[in-house]
Amino acid sequence: MSRTRELIELSERRSAHNYHPLPVVVREARGAWVTDVEGRRYLDCLAGYSSLNFGHGNPKILQAAQEQLQRVTLTSRAFFHDQFAAFCQGLADLCGKDMVLPMNTGAEAVETAIKVARKWGYEVKGVAPGQANIVVMEDNFHGRTTTIVSFSTDPDARDGFGPATPGFTIVKYGSAEAIREAIDDNTVAVLIEPIQGEAGVLVPPSGYLREVREICTEANVLLIADEIQSGLGRTGDTFACDHEGVVPDMYVLGKALGGGVVPVSAVAADAGVLGVIRPGQHGSTFGGNPLACAVGNAVIELLGTGEYQAAARQLGTILHERLRALIGPVGQGGHGVVAVRGRGLWAGVDIDPSLGTGRQVCEALMRRGVLVKDTHGSTIRFAPPLVISEEDLNWAVDQLVAVLAELAEPAEPAER
Ligand SMILES: *Cc1c(COP(=O)(O)O)cnc(C)c1O
Repeated sequence: MSRTRELIELSERRSAHNYHPLPVVVREARGAWVTDVEGRRYLDCLAGYSSLNFGHGNPKILQAAQEQLQRVTLTSRAFFHDQFAAFCQGLADLCGKDMVLPMNTGAEAVETAIKVARKWGYEVKGVAPGQANIVVMEDNFHGRTTTIVSFSTDPDARDGFGPATPGFTIVKYGSAEAIREAIDDNTVAVLIEPIQGEAGVLVPPSGYLREVREICTEANVLLIADEIQSGLGRTGDTFACDHEGVVPDMYVLGKALGGGVVPVSAVAADAGVLGVIRPGQHGSTFGGNPLACAVGNAVIELLGTGEYQAAARQLGTILHERLRALIGPVGQGGHGVVAVRGRGLWAGVDIDPSLGTGRQVCEALMRRGVLVKDTHGSTIRFAPPLVISEEDLNWAVDQLVAVLAELAEPAEPAER
């Protein structure tokens, strides 16, 4: 039995089956490339769902982590440590906000935003106790806690985990009118992904976010942007909201903030919002720990150069141009791609379901040395590290073209 099969079988036997991974067992990685236990190399076009925007083993991030490992890694928030101030100031400045509240995972940061918004609603807006509601979007993905899955519209994410947390109103994504209608006197926030990642990289209509911003301002409702996946360079700007010149009241950040090394998340907001949280009301043993802050500081420094945003913009243009050229039925000028969405180095590609499932496309790409992940049936998502070279990016698209040709070729139906 191969080392790969052996490790997969043991993993499947001894771990809960809450994921359905591709059959590749990674041993090491650098930049945009990973190597498996058999020594095979793959181009990572998923980048840990945008956790690895700066590449595997980014030298600046590794150096910051290694130096911090030697000094102090954990203090708890019972004490201050010397990385904390710089992290909070750096991240607040990056967001153009007064202050931040650091946590670890994305879901924890979303939970933080929900708690802050509710408390702001009661203390600042004057909502009656226990009556606050938050407007959320259909097909959202904000994490896996019991409260967050309470307002998921994905049956797999939600069903079987009730009773649901009340206080959320779900509206159609992309319709500002639907948000306007859903807001009432007890609404404290609108929680939105500026681009819906897990839903298939759905980009809302142009002008939508600006309109949502106006509606929230008029109604005295906080606009909370979940930029956990869309933020920190991915779309060609620091935040996806920047493309519409929109500034939310609260940014929710995670994934790439940890540099692919440790989980680091945070919310950023002005003092009038985050100031509602006082000692003892919210926290996390690991949130804002020295190692996390040192890594976060390196990430903030990398984003400060603007290089990664520029790379995502330039390479994103190439990626989208090349993917769009594949749209159309096979044999009629196309390659079996139905639609391409996204922004920057982030693309959702809908494959003609008659060619195969998204999973089949991902498995075929894996055999050709490209790692991507399917979502919702026949969509595959490209989100390579922003350090990918133009040559490698083109090569990845070439592999997709080859896979689509294979799947369209009736002489080779038994490729699996
Ligand atoms: C990944 C993600 C989350 C959850 O982050 P975790 O670190 O997995 O808890 C929340 N919101 C969005 C938009 C995400 O992409």
